[in-house]
Amino acid sequence: MKHSIPIYWRSRSSHYRLEVTKCRTCGRVSFFRRKVCPYCGSRDVEVATATGRGRVALATKSYFRVEGEEEYLPRWVALVELPEGARLLSEVVDAFDGVNSGDEVEAVLRRVSSDDPYGLIYYGLKFTKRVL
Ligand SMILES: [Zn+2]
Repeated sequence: MKHSIPIYWRSRSSHYRLEVTKCRTCGRVSFFRRKVCPYCGSRDVEVATATGRGRVALATKSYFRVEGEEEYLPRWVALVELPEGARLLSEVVDAFDGVNSGDEVEAVLRRVSSDDPYGLIYYGLKFTKRVL
């Protein structure tokens, strides 16, 4: 999949940082950087960097096939609850013994896609199980 390099560069903050939006009006927190609160519509919001840790609320094994990435199947996809109060959907990597509700996870930077075998490689945040 070809990406626009300038667009990817301008949005690098959202690819490499786990950012949440905190609403000063209703106090709720939502995942990813926004200019408007998705709950109350207020524009009085602030962006904060999350700790990168979280807990799995739900998890499932996905067999969704992406061309050129069949070797990574199946993938674990989880709904992760952040201690900041937001929830997000993410892949959980290196989960050799599976993923269960309640597992502690932390964000890691991993390869997301590439243009072709010799093209640019794009990285982004995924989660991995925490070793306690
Ligand atoms: Zn709000």
